[in-house]
Amino acid sequence: MTENPKQTEAALIDGKAIAQQVLDEVTQEVCQLTAAGQAQPCLAVVLVGEDPASQVYVRNKLLKCQQAGIQSREHRLAVQSTESDLLGLLETLNRDPQVHGILVQLPLPKHIDEQKVIQAIAPEKDVDGFHPVNMGRLMAGAPDRLVPCTPLGCLIMLRHTLGERLSGKHVVVVGRSNIVGKPAALLALEQHCTVSVVHSRTENIEALCRQADILIVAVGRPELVRADWVKPGAVVLDVGINRVERDGKPRLVGDVAFDEVAAVASAITPVPGGVGPMTIACLLRNTLQAYRQQQG
Ligand code: NAD
Repeated sequence: MTENPKQTEAALIDGKAIAQQVLDEVTQEVCQLTAAGQAQPCLAVVLVGEDPASQVYVRNKLLKCQQAGIQSREHRLAVQSTESDLLGLLETLNRDPQVHGILVQLPLPKHIDEQKVIQAIAPEKDVDGFHPVNMGRLMAGAPDRLVPCTPLGCLIMLRHTLGERLSGKHVVVVGRSNIVGKPAALLALEQHCTVSVVHSRTENIEALCRQADILIVAVGRPELVRADWVKPGAVVLDVGINRVERDGKPRLVGDVAFDEVAAVASAITPVPGGVGPMTIACLLRNTLQAYRQQQG
């Protein structure tokens, strides 16, 4: 945690710094593996179409792989590629023993069934952790699961901020998506937290959020969570990334009204620079874990 330069009361949870620690650990381990003559871990990234945001995400992922000593392969398919083109590529990557992790950048063009694609990735190479087998293993508390990167990043940040004090805390997760809300809730439960999940149909959502010692917000609504939703002293993780216009200029804001919530919380993640950097760091961590599991 670092001092908050905005002079609000809450400490800033510095996602960039914690992500760098995760990346350093991964880099060090990859370095040891290769120094011992073992093969380099390899991540295959598949991008269908030319969505500008997806292109930026993929570029960043490939760059981070390079910095960590993880080999990467980029597979670009034209936007008009068929579902069976993509499934065929995944079959090849699943069979390739030199590829340890496979990531298909989402969203996919509308004519391709996302669930079918997710389920076509071999679970042991599913570094996004979206395959039902990995979701089931997370539910069952199995050690060999691959956990979705963003909620894993949230958990690492919470451990960093609270350490052993995580146990017994009331965590309220706002949002119930498969990629963030649900796995975040399961991970918090594993840490012996008491967990509530609230969402768009929840009644009295503000009152429930006010009970949280830890509030994890993954909704996709700019600045939905206001100061009066937050118990004084709570720890707030803001997963949201929303592009808005302020004073005629584009800006990124989270799902939490940062300035006013920072005056109430004890610690808070900024947007940008909070949960975001943790997601890529955890992707590399998952790639290394997938590699280790495949190497036995
Ligand atoms: P999603 O759209 O799949 O799910 C949103 C959830 O929020 C749903 O469960 C819905 O019930 C709930 N919700 C919607 N409106 C609500 C309301 N008014 N009150 C309470 N709950 C409400 O979204 P997602 O994929 O989980 O992503 C959520 C946000 O997190 C988005 O802003 C996304 O861009 C961001 N995100 C960031 C990262 C990162 O790396 N930082 C990664 C994934 C997602």
